[in-house]
Amino acid sequence: MKLSEVFKTNKPTLSFEVFPPKTTDAFDSVKEATEGIAALKPDFMSVTYGAGGGTSRYTVSVAENIQNKYNVPTLAHLTCVSSTKQQINQMLDALKANNIENILALRGDIPEGYEKNGSWSFDHASQLVQYIRSKGDFCIGGACYPEGHPESPNQKQDILYLKEKCNAGCDFLTTQMFFDNNILYNFLYKVRDAGITVPVCAGIMPVTNGKQISRICSLSGTLLPGRFKQIVDKFSDNPAAMKQAGIAYATEQIIDLLANGVNHIHVYSMNKPDIAQKIKENLSQIL
Ligand code: FAD
Repeated sequence: MKLSEVFKTNKPTLSFEVFPPKTTDAFDSVKEATEGIAALKPDFMSVTYGAGGGTSRYTVSVAENIQNKYNVPTLAHLTCVSSTKQQINQMLDALKANNIENILALRGDIPEGYEKNGSWSFDHASQLVQYIRSKGDFCIGGACYPEGHPESPNQKQDILYLKEKCNAGCDFLTTQMFFDNNILYNFLYKVRDAGITVPVCAGIMPVTNGKQISRICSLSGTLLPGRFKQIVDKFSDNPAAMKQAGIAYATEQIIDLLANGVNHIHVYSMNKPDIAQKIKENLSQIL
């Protein structure tokens, strides 16, 4: 099922993101974890893509398994950095052959020491979006950044490029994680003011490992609010307490978003069925 159909009803949605295995050995454990999340019957699940890596084929098999075994619509991520047009065509053919109708079209992070190789076909996600649009009847999503993409000189410019990406054929957007809802509300105001009208899924990361989060935030440029820093300071040495506090914080963020009319919540569930389940339970009377 196309996600554009899911969003059309304008009912609130809860979806989860998973990632494919990095090695063949890990395939079975990842499959089990993603199936545990699919069994919760979210509105859809997304499967990330290892940019330019040899494991990219696992995105298709994990997505196909979730969709066919659990009847949960899937969204396959696809990046274009360091890929040739031929490689992109192969992925599009594989997605079509497996009845995967939804693609999150991404540029991917530029590898360190990057020098543009003549065989790479796309510099920006908007070019990939346009190309996918020309290649078949897919529902296409794009990424957006409430705090600005780390490479952007300013948010205004970032939103202008986002508009270009939407004009190229995005049906919806999913945000980078954020920990302060006011940042999202402010971003949404600017995005709508710029004439971007597609549905926006709010990306929520339940932080259950305090040690990782500072590194992730410094890489992605995401702000850690003082209130959240206190939680990490206090509980990061106690994994069970950190997990409980991280799930509670994410739940509170989601409830506030829903109360303020942000209807589409995408949880970065990191292949953790127990965390996905807890969040779903916490919202059982709300969603
Ligand atoms: P773009 O939309 O191309 O934007 C990248 C930068 O280029 C921005 O600064 C933008 O302002 C600028 N820009 C855009 N168009 C132009 C133009 N015409 N001229 C000049 N500058 C321009 N990475 C993975 O490897 N695998 C994944 O599965 C994955 N999933 C993700 C899911 C989400 C929801 C998000 C938010 C990110 C994900 N990423 C993933 C990370 C993503 O690949 C990186 O953030 C990457 O650096 C940018 O990708 P993009 O698609 O946003 O790029």
